[in-house]
Amino acid sequence: MSEVTSVICRSLSQDPIVQRTDVNRRRVKPCCRAVALASCIALSVLPKVARSVEQASTDWPRYGLDTGETRNSHLTQVNAGNVRHLGLAWSAELTNEASALEGTPLEIDGILYANGGFGAVYAFDAATGRALWTYEPKANEADPRGARRTYGSDRGLAYYKGRIYTATKDGRLVALDAKSGNVSWSVKFIVRGTNGVYSGAPRALDGKIIIGTAGSEFAARGSLTAVDAETGKIAWRFFTVPGNPAEGFEDSAQQMAAKTWSGEWWKYGGGGAPWNGITYDDELGQVYIGTGNAGPWSDKVRSHQGQDNLFTASIIALDANTGRYVWHYQTTPDDVWDYDATADIALTTLKIGGKPHKVLLQANKNGFFYVINRVDGKLIAADKFAPVNWATHIDLRTGRPVEVKGSRYPERRTIIFPSTFGAHDWQATSYNEKIGLVYFPVIHAVSVFTPSRESEALMQQNVGRMLSDQGVDATVRTERPTPGGELVAWDPLARRAVWRISQSSDFNGGTLTTDGNLVFQGLADGHFNAYSADKGHKLWSFDAHMGIMAAPMTYSVAGQQYVCVLAGYGGGGGETAIIGYAGWKWGLPRRVLVFRLGGNAQLPTAPQAVTHLKPVDDVALRLRSAHVTAGGALYGEACTPCHGEAVIANGNAPDLRVSPLALDRTAFRRVLMEGLLVSKGMPRFDDLSDDEIGSLYEYIRARAREDLHSGRDGAAAVLGAESANADEP
Ligand code: CA
Repeated sequence: MSEVTSVICRSLSQDPIVQRTDVNRRRVKPCCRAVALASCIALSVLPKVARSVEQASTDWPRYGLDTGETRNSHLTQVNAGNVRHLGLAWSAELTNEASALEGTPLEIDGILYANGGFGAVYAFDAATGRALWTYEPKANEADPRGARRTYGSDRGLAYYKGRIYTATKDGRLVALDAKSGNVSWSVKFIVRGTNGVYSGAPRALDGKIIIGTAGSEFAARGSLTAVDAETGKIAWRFFTVPGNPAEGFEDSAQQMAAKTWSGEWWKYGGGGAPWNGITYDDELGQVYIGTGNAGPWSDKVRSHQGQDNLFTASIIALDANTGRYVWHYQTTPDDVWDYDATADIALTTLKIGGKPHKVLLQANKNGFFYVINRVDGKLIAADKFAPVNWATHIDLRTGRPVEVKGSRYPERRTIIFPSTFGAHDWQATSYNEKIGLVYFPVIHAVSVFTPSRESEALMQQNVGRMLSDQGVDATVRTERPTPGGELVAWDPLARRAVWRISQSSDFNGGTLTTDGNLVFQGLADGHFNAYSADKGHKLWSFDAHMGIMAAPMTYSVAGQQYVCVLAGYGGGGGETAIIGYAGWKWGLPRRVLVFRLGGNAQLPTAPQAVTHLKPVDDVALRLRSAHVTAGGALYGEACTPCHGEAVIANGNAPDLRVSPLALDRTAFRRVLMEGLLVSKGMPRFDDLSDDEIGSLYEYIRARAREDLHSGRDGAAAVLGAESANADEP
C-alpha cells in the first residue's frame, strides 16, 4: 500500500452525473505509408448524503465513473478470490455498428446505455439485456462531406438529471430522455470553418455539459463548448489555439497564445484539439483539458524560431462556470511528433513530503507520466514509463523537456519513440486509490520521420481543402523497440512501475479497477482478462472472438454485480496493431458483453478473425504508372484515415482491395460523387475531379493486383516493410 490518501470526489450532494470521447485519426501518408489518443470532498462529512453515496457505488453514471475519472469501482462482489467464476450474463449485437467500439457504457438505475460509432445510443435492461430503445442520429447523412474526417469513433456518453447526452459525428450535442430515448434538444457545437470533428465523450459539469473537438490532423482549430444541460444553450466556449489575429482574439488567453506562433498558422488550423481527456474537478470548480498535437506535424508553417505553439499538447485548467483560463502546463512544446496531451486525466490527493497535494495524473503519449498540482498547474513529477528517445528527461525546475539533439528530424530520416501512436494513447486509465496504482496499456512502436519536399508541397496545396498533409512523411513501425504492448501498474508516489505484463498485441483496451483487488482489460486479440490489482497476476480470461479497444465498466443491480465491455476493433489502432492485420474486419459483429458470477450465457455465433486477403482484379484493366502514383498520394490524404493504407487489412472501413464495388469503375465514381453509401459512413467526395477519381481508382487496383500476385497477406506486407536506413537522433 502506498500512502495515497485520495478519496473519490464526487459531488456528494448532487445527482449522479455523466461522462464523454476522438478519434485520434492517425493520418497517413500516401505512398510513403505514413500513418498515420475527485476531488475530495472529505467523505467523512455530510451524513445526509449517505443515500447518494450508495447510489454512486452501484451505478456507473460518468465516463470515468466519478468526477475525478478514477474508474475505481468500490463494488467487491466480484473479487480476486472468485473472479474465476465470472461468466457471460448476456450479450447484444449493436446492429448498426460495423467497426470500432471505443466507448465506456453508462449504467443508471438499472438501465445500461452503450454508444456506437457515430453517436448512436443503445439502451438495455442492465440485468437482462432486453433492448429498451435506440437513438440513431443519422450523423453521416447530416454531413456527407464532413463524414470523411474519421470513420466513426465515439468514446461515450454523459448523464445528468434524467437525460443522456450524446455527441454525433456531424457535430451535434443531443440531449435524450434517459427513460424513453426521445430527443429533448440538439445543438451544433463545432464552430463553422474550424474543421473540427467529434470523437470524445461529453461530460457533465454542475448544470452544464462540456464537449471537445477532434481533428488536429485535419487542419482543425480545437475548441471546447459548454452547454446548459437543461436548455441546450451554449454557456461558454474556449479555443485551444489562437485564430487569425486580424479577426480579433476571443479572449486574453488567445492573445497570450498567439505570441507563441509564427507565420500564418491559422490557415493550417493549428490543432490542439481537446478530443479525449476532460476532467471535472468539482472541489476546485475547475475543468482540466488535455489538448491535441500541433498541426500540421511539421512545424515549418507555425514555428519559425522554436516557438511553443500554445495551447497545443498541453493540459489547461479552466473555470468550470465561466470557461475562463486559469493555468496551463505544456507537456510537449512545439510538438512535431503528434504527442497529443489527450490521455485521460485522473484526480486525487497524494501525500508528498508529509503534506497532502491535490494532483492530477496523466500517462502522456510522449512517454512521460505526469503528476501536476491541480491548484496552480506546477509540475511535481514526470517520469518515463516506456522507452523514450526524443527527450532525456523533464526538467522539474523549468517544467520543460530536455530534448535529444536531432530528434526534430531536421534533414534526415529519424527513428523516434514513442511513435505517433504514443506510448499510451486514449485508452482509459484507472487509478486504484487504496492500492495506489494507476493502470494503463503501453504501446511499443517507433515512428520513422522522413522530411520530404513533396509532403511539404502537399501541405501547402491542401490548405482550405478537406484533405490534409502533415508536411512530413511518418511511418509507424510496431516491431520496435520490441513487438507488442504492456499493461503497466504505475506508482505515482514512488514514480515507477510496480508491475508490467507483456502482451503480444500493441494497441489494447483501457482499464477498470475495483476494490475487489482487480484490474480488467480487453485486448486486441479478443481476450477479456482480469488481473490482481496489487500484483498483476492473471486470474481470469474470456475469449470474446473480437478485438477489444474499449474500457470495461461495472455496476450492480438488485444486489448482483455485473462487468461490461464493448467488443469491436478498428479505428486508428486497427491500422497497425498486429492483430489488426489479421483482421477484425469491418462488418463482423460488434457487441456489448456483460458478465456476472456464475453467468453461463453463450455468444450467439463467435466471429472469427479474417486472416487472409482475397483481392479482386480485372486482368483486362490497363494501369498507368503516373496515375497510380498520383492516386497513391491522393489515397493517403483522402482514404487512409478510414480505409487504412492499402497494404493493411485493418478493422476500420472495408478493405478496398477485396471490394467488388471498388472494382466497378462506374459504381466507384458514383459512391464518391453521389454519396451512395453515406448512411454506412462512406463520405461524399464531390469535390474531387474526374481525373483524381480515376487516379484513385487505378491506385487501388494496382494495390489489389500487387497483393494478388505477390501471394502475401497484409500482415506480411507490413511487417516486411522498409525504413532500414533510418537512425535514432
Ligand atoms: Ca494526434
